[in-house]
Parts: sequence; structure tokens; C-alpha cells
Amino acid sequence: MSQFDDLVQKIRGCTLCSLSEKRTNAVPGEGARDADIMFIGEGPGFYEDRDGRPFVGPAGQFLNELLLSIGLSREDVYITNMLKCRPPNNRDPLPGEIDACRPYLDAQMEMISPKVVVTLGRFSFGKFFPGESIGKARGKPRPWKNLTIFPMYHPAAALHNPRLRDVILADFAKLPALADDVIGAPEEAQEAKAEQLSMF
Ligand code: SF4
Repeated sequence: MSQFDDLVQKIRGCTLCSLSEKRTNAVPGEGARDADIMFIGEGPGFYEDRDGRPFVGPAGQFLNELLLSIGLSREDVYITNMLKCRPPNNRDPLPGEIDACRPYLDAQMEMISPKVVVTLGRFSFGKFFPGESIGKARGKPRPWKNLTIFPMYHPAAALHNPRLRDVILADFAKLPALADDVIGAPEEAQEAKAEQLSMF
């Protein structure tokens, strides 16, 4: 069994916090295990808990649409959440739950090693930039350690407030250029290096 499969299995059987008691399924995440772009949402909702898959409800349909709008599919990226189990009635995650679940997300980030992390909503943004306002930060890429963080509103926000739909679509439209910039950089650097070497 691969290290990644082992992690998935651990998440599926985890009882580290009380969210394990009422869940139907834990939701580890899904997508390419070598993805350059990783999406991190808040936590599973009703449909995700039922199916054991992330973003499969109405917010997930909007996320699929957003991906399609920039020529990507779910298989091209990795999609997961801060919490792997559904909080009752979709309430906000509690700090203790986020702390308990953090090692799983950290391990996923280490194994997948994405170059761009798109944070969906204030809780995943808060993992990287605690205490800052998502309303001010959204749509602006920022460096964090060796990553680029791209903060966005959670797609569910557009379901509650349709005016945010265009805001989210506009932020999403910036992702391809950002990804080209960040993901293309090492190749460009390699080409520049090769060019320099060819001069000797
Ligand atoms: S939310 Fe995370 S820490 Fe809590 S039981 Fe689920 S997997 Fe374990």
C-alpha cells in the first residue's frame, strides 16, 4: 500500500475528534496525487458525508463549473477540506476540530506537493494567514513558504448570495495565468540555465 493510500485509510477510520461519531463517511479528498493546484475547502456537507467525496453537492457543482470555465477538470487538481468529517448541521468548524484534523491536511500537502493552493473560504485561508479578512485578500495571490496561496470565497457563498457568483468567476479567471506563472517558472529557469551553459 502506498503512503498516500495509507493516509486515506487512516482518515477514513479516524476517531481523533468527536465529528467521527456522527459521520456517515470521512472525506479524505480526491484528484491527482501529483497535482500542481490544490483546492482546500472547509469541511464536508450532507452530500459529501453521504458519498465520502469532496464537493459533490450544489457548491461542488459550481466548483465543477468554475474548473470547466478555465479548461480544467477535477482530475487535473486535488480537492480536499480542512476537516475530513462533517460538522453537525454544517456548522463552522471548531478550533479543536481544525487542530485535530490538521496533520492529515499537512500530510496531504507534503505528499502532493502542489505549487498553488487555492483556499476556498475563510477557514482554509486562515490556515495560512490567521486573523486576516478573506473579503480583502480574495483574488490576490500571495507567497507562503514555498507555495503560492490564492484566496477565494467558498463556492457555497454564491449559493447564499448570488451576487458573489460573478466575483468568484472573476477571481477564478485569474487562476490560469497565475498557474502558468508559478508552474511554468521552474521550466523557464531550467531553460535559462541551459542557455547559459550552452554559452560555455
Ligand atoms: S474531522 Fe479529522 S480529526 Fe476529526 S474525526 Fe474526522 S478525520 Fe479525524
